[in-house]
Amino acid sequence: MESEVSLSKWDKRFMALAQQVSTWSKDPSTQTGALLVSPDKRRIFLGYNGFAAGMSDSPELYADREKKYSRVIHCEMNAMMNAQCDLHGFTLYTWPFLSCDRCAVHMIQAGVVRVVAPTPTLDQATRWAAAFEKTKSYFKEANVDIVEYDRDTGKVVYQFLTAEIPTR
Ligand SMILES: [Zn+2]
Repeated sequence: MESEVSLSKWDKRFMALAQQVSTWSKDPSTQTGALLVSPDKRRIFLGYNGFAAGMSDSPELYADREKKYSRVIHCEMNAMMNAQCDLHGFTLYTWPFLSCDRCAVHMIQAGVVRVVAPTPTLDQATRWAAAFEKTKSYFKEANVDIVEYDRDTGKVVYQFLTAEIPTR
């Protein structure tokens, strides 16, 4: 579903911020950033992927995939824990791709109604195809709007908008 629509000014700003926040991650292979933004855009909570505060940030633990996966907290979950407030109606921005299926269900339960992310690169899409497929189906099932855009052009390349669902 190619479109000529670009991200809105605010979506661009928040995505740029999520990208910036991702660079704070100590994970050498995948750095992710998330923003949870209130409907009036006045409350913004940040998160990036990393180990829990107080745990070792040793590069060897990041290098060992099994240990890393066991210890890491995803960016969305860190943003949610930083928020510590009701997130109903919030928009989730994630860089450099959509949430994994596990974070997706937590975001749905927290009250997120809209998600914005760039489309994954070919490499990312290949590695996490199964998770992205689940994520999209979960967000749709829970009536969460999805906006995916091309990171180079800023054009929206995929949209799922609940407003377009006929009333049942
Ligand atoms: Zn996740």
